[in-house]
Amino acid sequence: MRQSTYLVPTLREAPAEAEAVSHKLMLRAGFIRQVAAGIYTYLPLGWRVLRKVETIVREEMDRAGAQEILMPAMQPAELWQESGRYQVYGPELIRLQDRHEREFALGPTHEEVVTTLVRNEVRSYRKLPMNLYQIQTKFRDERRPRFGLLRGREFLMKDAYSFDGDWEGLDKTYWSMYDAYSRIFTRCGLNFRPVEADAGAIGGEGGTHEFMALADIGEDTIATCTNCDYAANLEKAESGPGKQEYREVTVGEHEKFHTPAIRTIDQLTEAFGIDPKQLIKTLIYNVDGQPVAVLVRGDHEVNEIKVKNFLGAENVELADAETTQKVTGATVGFAGPVGLSVPILVDREVAAMPFGIVGANEQDHHIKNVRPGHDFSVEKTGDFRNVIEGDTCPRCEGTLKFYRGIEVGHVFKLGTKYSEKLGAKYLDQNGKEQVMIMGCYGIGVSRVLSAIVEQNHDDNGIIWPLSVAPFHVHLIPVSAKDETQMKLAEELYERLRSNGVEVLLDDRDERPGVKFKDSDLTGIPIRVTIGKGAADGRVEYKERRHNEQLDLALEEALTRIV
Ligand code: ATP
Ligand code: MG
Ligand code: MG
Ligand code: MG
Repeated sequence: MRQSTYLVPTLREAPAEAEAVSHKLMLRAGFIRQVAAGIYTYLPLGWRVLRKVETIVREEMDRAGAQEILMPAMQPAELWQESGRYQVYGPELIRLQDRHEREFALGPTHEEVVTTLVRNEVRSYRKLPMNLYQIQTKFRDERRPRFGLLRGREFLMKDAYSFDGDWEGLDKTYWSMYDAYSRIFTRCGLNFRPVEADAGAIGGEGGTHEFMALADIGEDTIATCTNCDYAANLEKAESGPGKQEYREVTVGEHEKFHTPAIRTIDQLTEAFGIDPKQLIKTLIYNVDGQPVAVLVRGDHEVNEIKVKNFLGAENVELADAETTQKVTGATVGFAGPVGLSVPILVDREVAAMPFGIVGANEQDHHIKNVRPGHDFSVEKTGDFRNVIEGDTCPRCEGTLKFYRGIEVGHVFKLGTKYSEKLGAKYLDQNGKEQVMIMGCYGIGVSRVLSAIVEQNHDDNGIIWPLSVAPFHVHLIPVSAKDETQMKLAEELYERLRSNGVEVLLDDRDERPGVKFKDSDLTGIPIRVTIGKGAADGRVEYKERRHNEQLDLALEEALTRIV
């Protein structure tokens, strides 16, 4: 490919709204462009990487015996009504009507469609087990689309659905998917950990693991043991004698809260439907979806650690009364052991926004809300009492360490949840009707791109692992006007390409500095520069990941690459 006519619009500066490194770099390097919040166009380089990841996923799914299909994004509401999810899925489901006012949804996931397909087409045990997958665009109206491809509203997912005759069969399929996922993420060059996950909203009766790419920007916190292989999402982590309780609290489907000037724990409990014993921490978001306060009950110091780990941000701090007053103008008090409430500043600027404050009871401490009447919604609450960094592992004597992770994949034993509701049954060897046992397995294909960039970059740009790089070699004649250089470049270009090497030839009439900067930014793993040495048939060879640059004869350079 010749860069002079190729669409790689690099930027010196990232747009201000990009927070995550991967988001900034993919914008700056000309891989993606935002069309609307959480909705992106992939430019040629981004699309090439996406297809590489897709290919790895496809190869490993095929190798594991799964069959590729393609289901529609647009799904009739009846299917969702049949499974019972139409009412409960909430505002993440994008709903629409056709011209006849029939209701549809844009698929955030495909259990309904695939289970119906199998119900209609598969009747005999002879066809089982069956594992169907697709690589397809998903739609989720995320409350907080952010970090570029990490949390989109339209994104590419690989989703697979398995149908087995019995639970032993499911177990086998499940672990074969687990192995396939490990191979996929290894081939993508990711540093990842499979962790025990929480069943959460999907429901289901079996086990579930998430594949976490380790990165500070990750929205999940995982606890791992320094001694054994125990690893769990903190949503699920157990420690000591008490098992964690965790649940996602959706207040009237994220309906906005009107908070009065003062809320007591009891008032909050009533309003949020939370057992006070569980009110260890409640994240409060403002209307823009920024966490602005965390309500904590219990010991002050311990909770600071927990909250930091929960939010995974250095910029989180427990606000003491003085700071809070300074930032917000509020008068704040702290109460005793039962109902201690602590406002948390999530970044001082954000903290300047109003937050709600809770006390054990109103009389104890005359707490005033800063600006009463603001809208809050509550997203998560959980009991993290028993898990703090340094705690003893629930499986051995080791100590727990915390990491932040990006959920790039999820394997899930569904059991009969959907097959029962939608009637996916088969006749066993004795001609007896049985309900199929299902599993589902997702990979955030587009999210993987962000995860790779989060883990593979430096100050100058992206450093793509060879397996997913948009091109293998960036070929740079220093001067496009120099005939000798261009002739050698063209020769090398052809020879590399005829050997199956993917080459981007920077034939632009640009200053060398600009070319090298762009080259570092786009992160193509091997750079071959053709400069003054061209007259002697010599080129410069450099790998993006390393600093050293080699002066080589053309043939030497070729043998290194091909
Ligand atoms: P999350 O916890 O990040 O919201 P999820 O648990 O809702 O993800 P799943 O339903 O398990 O997601 O979907 C399978 C995979 O799809 C996830 O493991 C993740 O990699 C990817 N994914 C989910 N939501 C998004 C999104 N909004 N943008 C990009 N990828 C996503
Ligand atoms: Mg989600
Ligand atoms: Mg999740
Ligand atoms: Mg998940």
